[in-house]
This record gives sequence, C-alpha cells and structure tokens, in this order.
Amino acid sequence: MRNTMMALEKTHPREGLWWVEAPVPEIGPDDVLIRVKKTGICGTDIHIWNWDEWASATVPTPLITGHEFAGEIVDLGRNVNDLALGQRCSGEGHLIGKTSRQSRAGKFHLDPATRGIGVNEQGAFAEYLRLPAFNVVPLPDGISDDVGAILDPLGNAVHTALSFDLIGEDVLVTGAGPIGIMAAAVARHVGARHVVITDVNPDRLALAERVADVVTVNVAERELSEIIGELGMAQGFDVGLEMSGNQQALDQMVKAMTMGGRIAMLGIPPGKSPVDWSRIVFKAITIKGVYGREIFETWYKMIAMLENGLDVSKVITHRFRAEEFEAGFAAMKAGSSGKVVLDWT
Ligand code: NAD
Ligand code: ZN
Repeated sequence: MRNTMMALEKTHPREGLWWVEAPVPEIGPDDVLIRVKKTGICGTDIHIWNWDEWASATVPTPLITGHEFAGEIVDLGRNVNDLALGQRCSGEGHLIGKTSRQSRAGKFHLDPATRGIGVNEQGAFAEYLRLPAFNVVPLPDGISDDVGAILDPLGNAVHTALSFDLIGEDVLVTGAGPIGIMAAAVARHVGARHVVITDVNPDRLALAERVADVVTVNVAERELSEIIGELGMAQGFDVGLEMSGNQQALDQMVKAMTMGGRIAMLGIPPGKSPVDWSRIVFKAITIKGVYGREIFETWYKMIAMLENGLDVSKVITHRFRAEEFEAGFAAMKAGSSGKVVLDWT
C-alpha cells in the first residue's frame, strides 16, 4: 500500500483549507484503517474553514478535517477480530474515554472526555482514516456510500427526533437545514400526525418538500398561529425540534407549543441569547439539550429505519470530486444547499 495520501487539511491558522499530501495514518492494535469513499461537508467544517472564534480556540493546526464519512476497511489492528477486511462502513466520529462515570454506565454519548475526529483528532477528509474499531458502524448493502456519508448528521436528526414519543403527536421543526429536514422526515416516518417545518429561506423550504411529506412555513411571511388553525390543531404543537440555532425560532416555537409540550434542542445559538423563561414556565415546557448521537442506539435505530423505508437521499443536493472541495464549500456557504458530498474514490 502507498504510504502517502491526499487530504484536506487545516494547515495554517487562518481562513481556508489546503489540499495536501499527508502520511497514511498508522493504526494501533485496537484500530482499523478505512479507505474513505465519500464524505459529507458539515456546518462544523464551515466554522473550521472560516476560522471563527470557536474554531481558532478549538482546532489544532495542522489537522485533517472532516467527520462525516463512508468507506471500506482495508487494515485491522492485531486485537480486532470482530470486523473483516472489505467491510463497508461508516462510523461514530466522537472518540470517547472509558473511565468516566457516564461511560462506565454505558452512556457513551455523555462522556465528558469526548474528542472529535476532524475537530480535535485527524479527520476523514482524506483517502484513509484511522478509527478505533469500537467506533466502526458496518453498512448494510442497501445503504449507499452517499447515504453512509451523511449518517452522522442523520444521527443528530434521529437522536433529536426520538427524544420524545412522536406517535400521533403534532411536531414542529424550526430550521429547514439538512438536519431539520431529516428530523422532519423521521417524525413523519415514525407516525407523527402533523409535521410542520419552518425556515426563512424559501430554497430550504422547497428542499424540505422534496425530501419529506411535511407542511412548510416561511416564518418571515406567515405566523405559526395561522397554521395551527388551518390544520385544526386544538392548542399547539406537542413536540418541538429546534434545529436552527436561531433565537427567534426558539421564541416562535415556545409560543406555538401546547401546555406541557416538550422541546428537544439541537440547534446551537451563537453565544448567549435572551430567552422568555416565564412563558416556558407557565406552559410547563420540558426542554432537552441534544448533543451528538447516542452511541450506538441512534446508529441502530437510523439504520433500521433506512432499511424500513425512511428515505433521506434527496437531501444530498451537490456532489463533487474531493479535489473540487472549493466548489463544495462554496455551495455550503451559499446557504441554500442540502448536504454536499465529496467523492474520494
Ligand atoms: P443550517 O445552518 O444549515 O440550518 C439552519 C436553518 O435555520 C437555516 O436554513 C436558516 O435559514 C434557518 N433559520 C434561521 N432563522 C430561522 C427562524 N427564525 N425560524 C426557522 N428557521 C430559521 O444547520 P444544520 O446543519 O441543518 O444544523 C442545524 C443546527 O444544529 C445548527 O444550529 C447546528 O449548529 C446544530 N448542530 C448541533 C449538533 C449537536 O450535536 N448539538 C450537531 C450538528 C449540528
Ligand atoms: Zn457533522
């Protein structure tokens, strides 16, 4: 095998990413080496590209970025005996410790020592990726490499959507980014009654309509209270999935919720933002913060749903060869794309 590969690296602590030749990672006894086939570009990668306050405080340089991937196992560490060469896979990009109280209780996704590939550790925007065998998620034949490359954000959507019972419930998703759209598709798939998704960007709402059977609302033009009436809902939404990170969206959601409603929040507001707590208290609303994916229950559920008719493939709107990454990042930055997938084959 070659000992160098092409990769997309944060080489210098400033705006941009660089196409570099890098050593193929060496694997330890408990790792596998993955030949990366497809990767997804995430909002996180845009922060790293832009080198904003969060990225410059978090990401070391040089670092190969990227954490959304699908590929094939091409080498096994000597302790790895439950995976095989040639196995198609995706994988959990959060590398967890095994000593915290949470990990020892089996709540791996709550481990405070979590490190992320492509953020703290060498990432997946490369021809080869080293990953602990523990993190590997084998892909069934029915799941394409393209969809395999977006299981990380689909996992965010599934983790958030399955936070509360959705069967027969009226669900509001705020933010029709790729994750919000996939969460709406999941809510529909698992048997919600009404699924309403909001945004202020008509392109994003049009994409939501192509991907899922949902009611779209442009909150720059219409009030949610009108929709509640039109759909014949008695009070308001039972479950809210906040997927925009926008302060106004959270306010609109709280206003549109029923008494005793439940909100799962994935969206990350920039900095501190004011919240109307009295309305939350008087409506007796439960709010749950959601981070990452449950390891590995979210992976199990999302693969089972994909095998059982959940189809999110249309959320991929752009495909580029890896070396055309600049076009891929430009499509993401334009703000109207769904998922952008890079091809490393
Ligand atoms: P995105 O930025 O592509 O989408 C957000 C959408 O919200 C945009 O389409 C924007 O137009 C829309 N929006 C803005 N104002 C709005 C309003 N008032 N009402 C409704 N929508 C509005 O983001 P994404 O990649 O789909 O990710 C969704 C969110 O989840 C982001 O905030 C992201 O940072 C966060 N995230 C969190 C985790 C986690 O582990 N908690 C993981 C991944 C992403
Ligand atoms: Zn991501």
